[in-house]
Amino acid sequence: MYGIILCSGCGSPRVIDLSSARSKCPRCAKAADHHRAKVHMRSPDQGELRDAMWSLHSPKGFFDEEPPAPKETDPRQALVRRLESISDPEERLAHAARVLSGEKGHFLREELEELLPEEAEAMLKAMVEQGIVYEPRPGRYQRI
Ligand SMILES: [Zn+2]
Repeated sequence: MYGIILCSGCGSPRVIDLSSARSKCPRCAKAADHHRAKVHMRSPDQGELRDAMWSLHSPKGFFDEEPPAPKETDPRQALVRRLESISDPEERLAHAARVLSGEKGHFLREELEELLPEEAEAMLKAMVEQGIVYEPRPGRYQRI
């Protein structure tokens, strides 16, 4: 008997042989304990499982364990909406700085102006004053 499990390391689906106790993910090498793993589909026919697996466009959707996260079509719009819901002014600034800087750790004045044209100036001033960001170069803000 074979089954499909989701790798607990990288989340990708794979077919396992249920007669063996353990196997390693070919993608991330994380070992799975077959007795403990949640088996999503069982079949004596390995080919059938592979077909089912490869035909998946979205493994998450197929296994419908958790509803797919609502997709924000525009991350900038998502940020603006999120900011509207934060009432604490300091937390609001910190959140904006965090999202705008992302992984690169800095953002540009124009990026905030594009999002919140009315408030950008005041927000940047407050961010600098509160030590959330500093301005290493004019118009460029580095998160602290
Ligand atoms: Zn994996």
